Amino acid sequence: MSSASPRVRYSISSKRLRPRRKADWVRRRLREKAQGIHEEFAVVRISAVDTKIVRVPFTHGDDSTVGRAGNLRLSTLNTLLVRVTTDTGIIGWGEAFGFDLVDVTKAAIDRLVSPLCIGHDVADAEGLNAILSHRLHNYGRNGPVSFGISGIDIALWDIAGKLAGLPLHRLLGDGGKDIVPAYTSLLRYGDAATVESNVRLAVSRGYRAIKLHEIELAVIRAGRNAAPDSVSLMLDVNCHWAPPQAITFARSLQKERIFFIEEPIWPPEDMIGLGQVSAQSGIPIAAGENATLMDFHTMITTGAVRFVQPSVTKIGISGLLKVAAWAAEHGVLVSPHSPYFGPGLLATVQVAAASKHDIAVERYGVELAADLFDGAITPVNGRISVPPKPGLGIDPSEDVIARFG
Ligand SMILES: [Mg+2]
Repeated sequence: MSSASPRVRYSISSKRLRPRRKADWVRRRLREKAQGIHEEFAVVRISAVDTKIVRVPFTHGDDSTVGRAGNLRLSTLNTLLVRVTTDTGIIGWGEAFGFDLVDVTKAAIDRLVSPLCIGHDVADAEGLNAILSHRLHNYGRNGPVSFGISGIDIALWDIAGKLAGLPLHRLLGDGGKDIVPAYTSLLRYGDAATVESNVRLAVSRGYRAIKLHEIELAVIRAGRNAAPDSVSLMLDVNCHWAPPQAITFARSLQKERIFFIEEPIWPPEDMIGLGQVSAQSGIPIAAGENATLMDFHTMITTGAVRFVQPSVTKIGISGLLKVAAWAAEHGVLVSPHSPYFGPGLLATVQVAAASKHDIAVERYGVELAADLFDGAITPVNGRISVPPKPGLGIDPSEDVIARFG
């Protein structure tokens, strides 16, 4: 299931196209498609879309027991792999959201999305994303169908990098980073002692930023007290409050030096409420893991949040790039949502490396029994090395897929 070498397989235009010009070709093809210009060169097309679920047991923090963990009550960490094969043999990998929804998203891809992709130009990720989103919009604009479309979008960007012979970050931008910062996203433990010990463990592993998922003041304070002042502490409450409660709670946290509060209110698409919390809480607000592109546009242009949090397995790389561009235009910061361990995490690393801005990559605070990338993007001292090979940089381990798929 590994991808073929782009140099060998990319022979369809070899009479016209020298290898050293491949990157220029891919960039020009992307630009032409965006401008609606008819393609001049031979087209590489999608010949198959396959899906595979990998379910990996995990432990978390200083708790060595395997079991249902966090506010999501997860028992395994599930990754829905999306494999796109082209008619020239190149393979791209994507990931669609996620967790315990993977069976439903898989069915959406297999039954609805995949058949519509066959024969489409692989250089047109954004165009295919738009076609699929419109064609299938009746089935939900923020759910299994759009998550499936996002998985295919990621795979097409992987293919674009492989065709260009470049790691995706070099195809996307001029950030030129070999290493990106990571923060650890701890699960919800609900008691002060466990939070304290897990914060200390994260600090000992070199993380300079830690996110809690706690909702009780005393527990959050315990987390703050366990970390040096130099370590940033974020708080994600997963849409726990109404706006007035969120404002009151945030005001009680002023001494805890919280870097941002994530998804403070229910429902997450209440942009007016988010704006009220931002204006009155005294702590920067972050949101976006449950947002559509239109939601992002609204929250950015109305100043409802300080940080936007696009989730690549939910809106694809094409969507993430749009959100990042809007954010840059309006002075809003980007802090991607990426509690994944598959191509979605790799895609987030590549986008962070391409950015001129400092973007910290979210790393879910668990230890898996097996890693699809054999530890290549496991943070060391709170930093992730950016894979230098073409596309996303690493294909998922066939051995791990065979063992846990
Ligand atoms: Mg969150």
